[in-house]
Amino acid sequence: MRDPLEALPSDAMAEARRLLTDVFGFHDFRGHQAAIIKHVVEGGDALVLMPTGGGKSLCYQIPALCRRGMGVVISPLIALMRDQVEALRQLGVRAAALNSTLESAEASRLIGDMRAGNIDLLYVAPERLLLEGTLALLAQCPLSLFAIDEAHCVSQWGHDFRPEYLKLAVLHERFPDVPRIALTATADTPTRNEIVRQLKLEQGRIFLTSFDRPNIRYHITPKAKPRDQLLRFIQDDHAGEAGIVYCLSRARVEETAAWLSQKGITALPYHAGLAADVRARNQDRFLKDDGVVMVATIAFGMGIDKPDVRFVAHMDLPKSVESYYQETGRAGRDGLPSEALLLFGIEDAAKLHSMIESGDGGERRKQLEHGKLDALVGFCASSRCRRQMLLEYFEESRPEPCGNCDTCMHPVASVDGTVAAQKALSCVIRTGQRFGAAHLTDVLVGANTERIRQFQHDALPTYGVGKEFSRDQWRDIFRQLVAHGLLVTDMEGHGGLRLGAEALCRPVLRGERSVLLRESRQSETTRAMRAEVGKKRPAARAAREELVDEGDERLFQALRELRLALAKEQNVPPYVIFHDTTLLAMARSRPQTLQDLARTPGVGASKLARYGDAFLRVILGV
Ligand code: ADP
Ligand code: ZN
Repeated sequence: MRDPLEALPSDAMAEARRLLTDVFGFHDFRGHQAAIIKHVVEGGDALVLMPTGGGKSLCYQIPALCRRGMGVVISPLIALMRDQVEALRQLGVRAAALNSTLESAEASRLIGDMRAGNIDLLYVAPERLLLEGTLALLAQCPLSLFAIDEAHCVSQWGHDFRPEYLKLAVLHERFPDVPRIALTATADTPTRNEIVRQLKLEQGRIFLTSFDRPNIRYHITPKAKPRDQLLRFIQDDHAGEAGIVYCLSRARVEETAAWLSQKGITALPYHAGLAADVRARNQDRFLKDDGVVMVATIAFGMGIDKPDVRFVAHMDLPKSVESYYQETGRAGRDGLPSEALLLFGIEDAAKLHSMIESGDGGERRKQLEHGKLDALVGFCASSRCRRQMLLEYFEESRPEPCGNCDTCMHPVASVDGTVAAQKALSCVIRTGQRFGAAHLTDVLVGANTERIRQFQHDALPTYGVGKEFSRDQWRDIFRQLVAHGLLVTDMEGHGGLRLGAEALCRPVLRGERSVLLRESRQSETTRAMRAEVGKKRPAARAAREELVDEGDERLFQALRELRLALAKEQNVPPYVIFHDTTLLAMARSRPQTLQDLARTPGVGASKLARYGDAFLRVILGV
């Protein structure tokens, strides 16, 4: 598409802008993109921290096209490289992936192209890159830059840790003149520092963007009947939309996927225990079909760049606030309204705590993980704006509540919960500090269960003293007491509850300190959610309503059908042809000529040539 040997234009940024419009079809850089691109085009190293959907790819793709030579993108996900390469080829960029799936004839052709300077962007996994043969080959090619994607994989604390990432400092030693740009959507400071240290980026500039994802609405709700809650969430708010449902265990993944399918929802399972071909097939369907729900363990998700994931639901607690943010961040990359739902069960916290305890990490690591989990529990049980808390967690501050999370939309009143706390704490003491919330609740409401009879808990003075609250309300109170640190999940036993620090508990038991609880939300949340359902449409549809009227909606659907047909023909995901945002813009502005169409965001020269006529015909015909 461009003579690789042409000199760097005197005004590099003018060239970058030209590429932005001609190749990508966009008209303005976003946020720090322009500054990052300028820095890298001029040969500087950079660490780019930007949330998912922030627009990281352009930050290396444009400099790779501006500078002389081939850009090398290191990405941990061979399975997704094909789609990344395909998306670039659709734009007319000469992209390729170097990996072991290539036939030997293909591989030698690619190597020839690399040496001849006929490749703009090369994707490669770290294992492959680090082979001496690959490094020697790269030394024979003119190189524009190295982009290290998912750079948080260097962090040994994260669950995406990839040992090969630790060896990537070799790029700095072997290719000191080639700029390196590391990118990640992981926001916490320790990870950031580790990336700089491990990749030897001390001389580079750090570009830190706000991690806010304003289009994602956060909901955290007590876990009562998880499958029903999930089904209602999908049917009422996200019918026909693509989403990810995270479960803690493989068994739960399978069960949930099967159950959703039974209920008429297109749901597929994904976890590390499935055969590789099943996993690949399911992932492919998720990417290429419209409206598939992927039920998965956290083995799924990193690098998934499907832009129209409309919801992420957590059936179980994630491990930490970082994990939660990373996982929910997979919703709404295209910027359209999206939702995150977490079903919060205190028993899950106990289970995770004991998993950490029985894991094989060292003492320090276990402590760190317990701490991270506690922070997550505190976040879930709080009544403050979710987004404010999330951003504070990543050391960003946001002065005003967001207005787009459950606590902002249905503020919960705080009530004096001192007496309830006293009852709960003394129930814990009298039953020997070893039972979980379910049994404690039974004692408080005076239930007649086998366990109660077995331990003669019906003889305790606390038996039946809590009848003023429902079971669900007690569950919620226990959660909050854990969040306040008044109760602690005991890791030694079976996740029973025991008293927290004496300094906290004693004044409460003596009535010297009061405990503020947010009003029990069980019934309230359900009611509020129900009331909302009546007026609420699926999130994406709601967004479309703002943009288009009914005729436009029909046109939008017709454009989607055309896109799907074109995608099937080529066996590529529909979004590599055009994103929903581009189709929405077409439906709204109804371009009448190819020139008009070219002004639509997301329509670059190559796509205009390939698809312009077909889309224009649909627009003119509807
Ligand atoms: P990330 O890798 O940070 O998650 P992407 O690079 O996939 O994000 O970009 C997210 C979305 O934003 C994509 O749909 C991309 O086409 C779009 N995008 C990126 N930069 C711009 C821009 N300057 N103008 C319009 N859309 C953009
Ligand atoms: Zn909020």
